[in-house]
Amino acid sequence: MEKKQFQAESQRLLEMMVHSIYSQKEIFIRELISNASDAIDKIYYKALTDDSISFNKDDYFIKVTADKDKRTLTILDTGIGMTKEELESNLGTIAKSGSLAFKKEIEMEEGQEIIGQFGVGFYSSFMVADKVTVYTKSLYSDEGYKWESDGQDGYTIETYDKDIVGTEIVLHLKEDTEDEDYTKFLEEFQLRSIIKKHSDFIRYPIKMDITKT
Ligand code: ADP
Ligand code: MG
Repeated sequence: MEKKQFQAESQRLLEMMVHSIYSQKEIFIRELISNASDAIDKIYYKALTDDSISFNKDDYFIKVTADKDKRTLTILDTGIGMTKEELESNLGTIAKSGSLAFKKEIEMEEGQEIIGQFGVGFYSSFMVADKVTVYTKSLYSDEGYKWESDGQDGYTIETYDKDIVGTEIVLHLKEDTEDEDYTKFLEEFQLRSIIKKHSDFIRYPIKMDITKT
Protein backbone atom coordinates (compact mmCIF):
# COMPACT_ATOMS: atom_id res chain seq x y z
CA MET A 1 0.00 0.00 0.00
CA GLU A 2 1.32 3.44 -0.93
CA LYS A 3 0.66 6.51 1.13
CA LYS A 4 0.81 9.94 -0.52
CA GLN A 5 0.19 13.55 0.37
CA PHE A 6 -2.14 15.82 -1.57
CA GLN A 7 -0.60 18.56 -3.64
CA ALA A 8 -0.54 21.80 -1.58
CA GLU A 9 -3.39 23.53 -3.37
CA SER A 10 -5.61 20.43 -3.27
CA GLN A 11 -4.97 20.29 0.42
CA ARG A 12 -6.26 23.82 0.79
CA LEU A 13 -9.47 23.12 -1.15
CA LEU A 14 -9.96 19.93 0.84
CA GLU A 15 -9.67 21.75 4.12
CA MET A 16 -12.34 24.18 2.98
CA MET A 17 -14.59 21.25 2.13
CA VAL A 18 -13.95 19.37 5.37
CA HIS A 19 -14.78 22.43 7.46
CA SER A 20 -17.49 23.74 5.20
CA ILE A 21 -20.52 25.33 6.78
CA TYR A 22 -22.09 25.71 3.35
CA SER A 23 -25.76 24.92 3.67
CA GLN A 24 -26.27 23.22 0.29
CA LYS A 25 -24.08 20.22 1.02
CA GLU A 26 -26.38 18.03 -1.09
CA ILE A 27 -24.61 19.24 -4.25
CA PHE A 28 -21.90 16.59 -3.69
CA ILE A 29 -24.38 14.11 -5.17
CA ARG A 30 -24.68 16.20 -8.33
CA GLU A 31 -20.88 16.30 -8.63
CA LEU A 32 -20.43 12.54 -8.22
CA ILE A 33 -23.26 11.71 -10.60
CA SER A 34 -21.89 14.12 -13.17
CA ASN A 35 -18.46 12.48 -12.93
CA ALA A 36 -20.10 9.07 -13.34
CA SER A 37 -21.97 10.30 -16.40
CA ASP A 38 -18.77 11.81 -17.88
CA ALA A 39 -17.03 8.45 -17.36
CA ILE A 40 -19.79 6.62 -19.28
CA ASP A 41 -19.65 9.29 -22.01
CA LYS A 42 -15.98 8.50 -22.46
CA ILE A 43 -16.77 4.86 -23.30
CA TYR A 44 -19.67 5.92 -25.48
CA TYR A 45 -17.55 8.27 -27.62
CA LYS A 46 -14.75 5.75 -27.77
CA ALA A 47 -17.15 3.08 -29.04
CA LEU A 48 -18.27 5.34 -31.90
CA THR A 49 -14.80 5.19 -33.45
CA ASP A 50 -13.41 1.92 -32.11
CA ASP A 51 -15.04 -1.26 -33.38
CA SER A 52 -13.48 -3.39 -30.67
CA ILE A 53 -15.64 -1.62 -28.08
CA SER A 54 -19.36 -2.20 -28.21
CA PHE A 55 -21.81 0.09 -26.48
CA ASN A 56 -24.83 -1.87 -25.36
CA LYS A 57 -27.00 0.72 -23.65
CA ASP A 58 -28.24 -1.70 -20.98
CA ASP A 59 -24.71 -2.20 -19.67
CA TYR A 60 -24.23 1.46 -18.79
CA PHE A 61 -25.79 2.95 -15.72
CA ILE A 62 -25.20 4.75 -12.44
CA LYS A 63 -26.27 3.18 -9.17
CA VAL A 64 -26.75 4.91 -5.85
CA THR A 65 -26.76 2.65 -2.79
CA ALA A 66 -27.41 3.71 0.78
CA ASP A 67 -26.53 1.51 3.70
CA LYS A 68 -27.83 2.81 7.01
CA ASP A 69 -26.04 0.20 9.12
CA LYS A 70 -22.67 1.04 7.65
CA ARG A 71 -23.58 4.74 7.31
CA THR A 72 -22.36 4.71 3.72
CA LEU A 73 -23.58 6.14 0.46
CA THR A 74 -22.16 4.53 -2.69
CA ILE A 75 -22.17 5.89 -6.23
CA LEU A 76 -21.28 3.24 -8.78
CA ASP A 77 -20.79 3.66 -12.51
CA THR A 78 -19.91 1.37 -15.39
CA GLY A 79 -17.88 4.11 -17.06
CA ILE A 80 -14.29 4.14 -18.27
CA GLY A 81 -12.64 3.86 -14.84
CA MET A 82 -9.18 5.13 -13.91
CA THR A 83 -5.70 3.72 -14.19
CA LYS A 84 -3.37 4.08 -11.23
CA GLU A 85 -1.75 7.15 -12.84
CA GLU A 86 -5.16 8.70 -13.47
CA LEU A 87 -6.23 8.10 -9.89
CA GLU A 88 -3.21 10.03 -8.69
CA SER A 89 -3.39 12.88 -11.15
CA ASN A 90 -7.19 13.24 -11.16
CA LEU A 91 -7.94 12.85 -7.46
CA GLY A 92 -4.66 14.06 -5.99
CA THR A 93 -4.22 17.39 -7.74
CA ILE A 94 -6.39 20.24 -8.92
CA ALA A 95 -5.87 20.49 -12.63
CA LYS A 96 -9.47 20.40 -13.66
CA SER A 97 -11.86 22.94 -14.99
CA GLY A 98 -14.41 23.53 -12.27
CA SER A 99 -12.13 23.00 -9.31
CA LEU A 100 -9.44 25.19 -10.78
CA ALA A 101 -11.80 28.11 -11.29
CA PHE A 102 -13.00 27.63 -7.75
CA LYS A 103 -9.45 27.66 -6.44
CA LYS A 104 -8.69 30.93 -8.21
CA GLU A 105 -11.82 32.45 -6.74
CA ILE A 106 -11.08 31.49 -3.14
CA GLU A 107 -7.69 33.11 -3.42
CA MET A 108 -9.48 36.39 -3.90
CA GLU A 109 -12.48 35.91 -1.69
CA GLU A 110 -12.55 33.64 1.32
CA GLY A 111 -16.12 32.59 1.74
CA GLN A 112 -18.54 29.71 2.03
CA GLU A 113 -21.39 30.88 -0.15
CA ILE A 114 -19.31 30.88 -3.31
CA ILE A 115 -19.11 27.08 -3.19
CA GLY A 116 -22.46 26.81 -4.90
CA GLN A 117 -21.36 28.86 -7.88
CA PHE A 118 -18.76 26.34 -8.96
CA GLY A 119 -18.58 22.73 -9.93
CA VAL A 120 -16.29 21.99 -7.01
CA GLY A 121 -16.08 18.42 -8.17
CA PHE A 122 -14.98 15.28 -6.43
CA TYR A 123 -13.65 17.02 -3.33
CA SER A 124 -17.16 18.18 -2.43
CA SER A 125 -17.63 14.63 -1.03
CA PHE A 126 -15.60 15.77 1.95
CA MET A 127 -18.36 18.19 2.96
CA VAL A 128 -20.37 15.17 4.10
CA ALA A 129 -17.90 12.27 4.42
CA ASP A 130 -15.11 11.62 6.90
CA LYS A 131 -13.75 8.86 4.68
CA VAL A 132 -13.99 8.38 0.92
CA THR A 133 -13.01 5.13 -0.78
CA VAL A 134 -12.76 4.81 -4.55
CA TYR A 135 -12.66 1.38 -6.19
CA THR A 136 -11.90 1.60 -9.88
CA LYS A 137 -10.80 -0.38 -12.88
CA SER A 138 -9.91 1.28 -16.16
CA LEU A 139 -10.93 0.02 -19.57
CA TYR A 140 -7.20 0.19 -20.32
CA SER A 141 -5.89 -1.73 -17.34
CA ASP A 142 -6.05 -5.35 -16.19
CA GLU A 143 -5.62 -4.28 -12.62
CA GLY A 144 -8.11 -2.56 -10.29
CA TYR A 145 -7.23 -0.07 -7.57
CA LYS A 146 -8.50 1.17 -4.24
CA TRP A 147 -7.94 4.82 -3.31
CA GLU A 148 -8.82 6.03 0.16
CA SER A 149 -8.66 9.29 2.06
CA ASP A 150 -10.01 11.00 5.15
CA GLY A 151 -9.50 14.34 3.40
CA GLN A 152 -6.88 15.44 5.91
CA ASP A 153 -3.93 13.14 6.02
CA GLY A 154 -3.21 12.35 2.38
CA TYR A 155 -4.47 9.27 0.60
CA THR A 156 -3.53 5.64 0.05
CA ILE A 157 -3.53 3.59 -3.14
CA GLU A 158 -3.37 -0.18 -3.40
CA THR A 159 -4.28 -2.81 -5.95
CA TYR A 160 -7.78 -4.21 -5.60
CA ASP A 161 -9.53 -7.14 -7.24
CA LYS A 162 -12.32 -5.59 -9.27
CA ASP A 163 -13.99 -7.61 -12.00
CA ILE A 164 -15.85 -5.04 -14.01
CA VAL A 165 -14.59 -1.84 -15.58
CA GLY A 166 -15.91 1.28 -13.86
CA THR A 167 -15.80 3.13 -10.58
CA GLU A 168 -17.44 2.75 -7.21
CA ILE A 169 -17.20 5.61 -4.72
CA VAL A 170 -18.09 4.87 -1.11
CA LEU A 171 -18.70 7.81 1.23
CA HIS A 172 -18.68 7.14 4.93
CA LEU A 173 -20.87 9.93 6.28
CA LYS A 174 -19.73 12.23 9.08
CA GLU A 175 -21.28 11.99 12.52
CA ASP A 176 -24.39 14.13 12.89
CA THR A 177 -24.02 17.38 14.78
CA GLU A 178 -26.50 19.79 16.31
CA ASP A 179 -26.60 21.72 13.06
CA GLU A 180 -26.21 19.00 10.52
CA ASP A 181 -28.03 15.74 9.86
CA TYR A 182 -25.99 13.64 7.45
CA THR A 183 -28.23 10.59 7.72
CA LYS A 184 -30.76 12.37 5.51
CA PHE A 185 -28.48 11.40 2.61
CA LEU A 186 -29.35 7.76 3.33
CA GLU A 187 -33.11 8.29 3.07
CA GLU A 188 -34.65 7.13 -0.18
CA PHE A 189 -37.11 10.00 -0.43
CA GLN A 190 -34.43 12.61 0.20
CA LEU A 191 -32.04 11.02 -2.28
CA ARG A 192 -34.70 10.84 -4.96
CA SER A 193 -35.61 14.47 -4.59
CA ILE A 194 -31.97 15.63 -4.53
CA ILE A 195 -31.21 13.62 -7.67
CA LYS A 196 -34.36 14.90 -9.37
CA LYS A 197 -33.48 18.48 -8.44
CA HIS A 198 -29.83 18.50 -9.53
CA SER A 199 -29.29 15.58 -11.92
CA ASP A 200 -32.51 15.28 -13.88
CA PHE A 201 -30.79 15.87 -17.21
CA ILE A 202 -28.37 12.89 -16.91
CA ARG A 203 -28.67 10.68 -20.01
CA TYR A 204 -27.98 7.35 -18.32
CA PRO A 205 -30.25 5.43 -15.96
CA ILE A 206 -29.73 6.20 -12.27
CA LYS A 207 -30.70 3.13 -10.24
CA MET A 208 -31.25 3.16 -6.55
CA ASP A 209 -30.78 0.58 -3.84
CA ILE A 210 -31.61 1.39 -0.23
CA THR A 211 -31.20 -1.12 2.58
CA LYS A 212 -33.98 -0.76 5.10
CA THR A 213 -33.29 -1.15 8.76
P1 ADP B 1 -13.99 17.71 -13.24
O1 ADP B 1 -15.17 16.80 -13.35
O2 ADP B 1 -14.36 19.17 -13.39
O3 ADP B 1 -12.87 17.31 -14.15
P2 ADP B 1 -13.78 16.55 -10.62
O4 ADP B 1 -13.09 16.98 -9.37
O5 ADP B 1 -15.24 16.36 -10.54
O6 ADP B 1 -13.42 17.60 -11.74
O7 ADP B 1 -13.12 15.20 -11.11
C1 ADP B 1 -11.74 15.15 -11.34
C2 ADP B 1 -11.38 14.08 -12.33
O8 ADP B 1 -11.41 12.79 -11.72
C3 ADP B 1 -12.31 13.96 -13.54
O9 ADP B 1 -11.97 14.87 -14.55
C4 ADP B 1 -12.07 12.51 -13.97
O10 ADP B 1 -10.91 12.43 -14.78
C5 ADP B 1 -11.78 11.80 -12.66
N1 ADP B 1 -12.98 11.12 -12.15
C6 ADP B 1 -13.77 11.51 -11.15
N2 ADP B 1 -14.80 10.66 -10.96
C7 ADP B 1 -14.66 9.69 -11.90
C8 ADP B 1 -15.40 8.51 -12.24
N3 ADP B 1 -16.53 8.16 -11.59
N4 ADP B 1 -14.93 7.74 -13.25
C9 ADP B 1 -13.81 8.07 -13.93
N5 ADP B 1 -13.07 9.18 -13.66
C10 ADP B 1 -13.48 9.98 -12.65
MG1 MG C 1 -16.75 16.69 -12.06
